[in-house]
Amino acid sequence: MSEKGLTTISLKKINRAKVYQYIYQKKVTSKQQIVQSLQMGLSTVSQNLNLLEEAGLIERNGYFDSTGGRKAHAIRIVPDYRISIGIGILKNMFHITAVDLYGNAFYTDAIALDYSNTSAYYEQVAGKIKEFISENHYNEEKILGISIATQGITSPDHTAVTYGSIMDNTGMDLKDFSQRLPYPCHLEHDSKSAAFLELWNHPDLDSAVVFLLNRNLGGAIITNRRIHQGSSMHSGAIEHICVNPDGPLCYCGNRGCLETYCSANALERSSGLSVKEFFPLLREKKSSQLIQIWEDYLNYLAFAVKNLNMVIDAPVIISGYLAPYFTKEDIDYLLKRIHSSSPFGFEKNQILVGVHGQYTPAIGAALFYVEQFLQSI
Ligand SMILES: [Zn+2]
Repeated sequence: MSEKGLTTISLKKINRAKVYQYIYQKKVTSKQQIVQSLQMGLSTVSQNLNLLEEAGLIERNGYFDSTGGRKAHAIRIVPDYRISIGIGILKNMFHITAVDLYGNAFYTDAIALDYSNTSAYYEQVAGKIKEFISENHYNEEKILGISIATQGITSPDHTAVTYGSIMDNTGMDLKDFSQRLPYPCHLEHDSKSAAFLELWNHPDLDSAVVFLLNRNLGGAIITNRRIHQGSSMHSGAIEHICVNPDGPLCYCGNRGCLETYCSANALERSSGLSVKEFFPLLREKKSSQLIQIWEDYLNYLAFAVKNLNMVIDAPVIISGYLAPYFTKEDIDYLLKRIHSSSPFGFEKNQILVGVHGQYTPAIGAALFYVEQFLQSI
């Protein structure tokens, strides 16, 4: 093909992408708005809208209120033109979610299943995914991929787990899933998936320290809107920061890691209650013992936040399973503790709280394929 021919094709592709991205950002728009904002000719915009509509990527749905003359079509992207499936693997259960192109998790489920590195286990997870897809009559091309968030640190190429002490899943292989599923598959450390969701939810965020308050503690460091991986993929493993050298034994073999104080498991151990029982009783404010346990928890968390803020001067994101249980009073208490112990202070807008609870890693994992798709348009 001639150079001129190639250029014309690239230009067409760029225009099509510009129009799609504009509609995506605006959520609802009109042809006239696109023409004005993108400074593109009316015929070029019309042509691209037709192409995008024929491909099923956008829809003209309803009308804008008219101020005289013909009513303008309301143009939107089709959010479920493609969907991505996220899986969050834990020791005794796994989470499954499906997200659309805006990252909305329109389906979530938690399935009790003990992890074991056996084909029976992987068959069951794959079976559930296939069941979800067939029950909803989704055709194969609609599924962007299956992205799996697991406890444990992955290899840099995301094909295997290289450190998996909690679930004993060192060596877990992406092939365990991909050979059972006719879709692209991706493997990710659950803390990094959670950080990805928080980045998605905070488009103006440059840097952050993410605390994943799950059954086991996790963490991630974000700088320049990227999740820091590190030389051996363990950047942000704040769960193994030592807060008391004589503290309880951690699953990593050391004592007094933050995991032993600030994981949901640690809270359940110290209170003798499940998380679901603990918080309603705590909020009744009748038990001084429970109030003390929760204050101790917040004190250790504040200690870690303050110290990490000396390394990364950025907001902190409280994310994961326990995040939705935090009240305004808890955040104020945390702020007071951090502020008073930091030479530089710590302001209210430096604490952000995640909203997706236990589904955070699965949803974050699913966004991997959504972002890839949006960049490919
Ligand atoms: Zn540890």
